[in-house]
Amino acid sequence: MGVWAATGRTIVQEYRRVLATPGALYSGQIGIAGRAKLAAYKTAALATAWLYPEGRKIDLRRQAIIEDVAIVWDLGGTNLRVSAVNASGEIITEILKADTEGIQKRATRKDKLEDLTAVELADARDAVVAEMTRMILKVKDAVGHREIPVNILNIAGSFAGPLTEKGTVIKGPNVVGFENYDLAQTLMRNTSIPSFIINDAVAGARSEEFYGLGKSVTGNFGWVTISTGFGGTFRVGKSLVGVEVGHLPSDIALGVADVECGCTLFGCAEVFAGKGLPLIALKERTQWTHPIVDESNLHARAIINMANGGDPYFSQLVLRSATAIASAIRTAAIIQRPKKVFVSGSMGKNAVFFKKLQAVFTALPRPMMFSESEWQTMLVMAEVAEPGLAGAGAETFRRAGYLAA
Ligand SMILES: [Zn+2]
Repeated sequence: MGVWAATGRTIVQEYRRVLATPGALYSGQIGIAGRAKLAAYKTAALATAWLYPEGRKIDLRRQAIIEDVAIVWDLGGTNLRVSAVNASGEIITEILKADTEGIQKRATRKDKLEDLTAVELADARDAVVAEMTRMILKVKDAVGHREIPVNILNIAGSFAGPLTEKGTVIKGPNVVGFENYDLAQTLMRNTSIPSFIINDAVAGARSEEFYGLGKSVTGNFGWVTISTGFGGTFRVGKSLVGVEVGHLPSDIALGVADVECGCTLFGCAEVFAGKGLPLIALKERTQWTHPIVDESNLHARAIINMANGGDPYFSQLVLRSATAIASAIRTAAIIQRPKKVFVSGSMGKNAVFFKKLQAVFTALPRPMMFSESEWQTMLVMAEVAEPGLAGAGAETFRRAGYLAA
């Protein structure tokens, strides 16, 4: 497509140059040959627009190539990110970042975000929405200054929590204050740009489906994320199906019965993801081989590093984590029959953890519907780096008819 794109730009530039002559078309300055040439340029320009693979088209009224883009955001308990993407899945402006928890703590003047009053919850939420609005308008301004004029299709967001079919937040397990809140509607009101919201696991699956390794999978696939929490979405036929893989019961998680899952139940596989792992380690402090100087800094990555360094306690903790998570993926795979399961998230894409997860998964009893080679190659590290942002963009361009599975 590269040659076509270059030719297209040349043709369009020529077309614009001719048209830029004031009144040229109607003043008779252009003779019959000129008009024929112009008609040829116009046809070529339209053909080129059709051939553009990247969501660019030629606006004959504005006499310019314009590019359809989406302003995208990704809101989780730790991070808020806003940027813009084009139909190829390229992030075309700087990614603006903010610390969700920090914003909420400042707004409520509280060190901990548990047990806030209804008024404080609303303050915490409104502070995040105000910051999102500011960031979205900044991105809008940035795309307005690009060399290629843009057409903003919509604002599309990825939210870490379940949503109603209409897009109202049901619950934000890791982002407080958003329960029963119509975030898309508010952003649309604040910015006058059409807006929609999708679940973060749906966004992740979309990102890999259109811009990552999912492109080469015909048929079912799964996408799971292991970071603070553990969740996933499967493509079954043409539909995406959310699978609460993190809340599948796990025998190993029941073994740490006093560590509660974010969903308020006990024994969920998710307690072995990033948020629960340090809590389990602290409860089992008596089993540690070496004392840790700074326990407040005991996060998942530190735990995985200590396991990788050969520490006996942390090695078996990471093995239990990989086993609980691999078993949950196996159960989901039996139900959804994916050809591949893409593993994402800061913990899932940690090379040491992924290797352990893959080793444990392939050693689990193989369900009868999978061949040995399918089973051995099922877990694959996801490719797309910003699944929330890229996935919200993919959903925009899918709805606009650019992308088809
Ligand atoms: Zn749970």
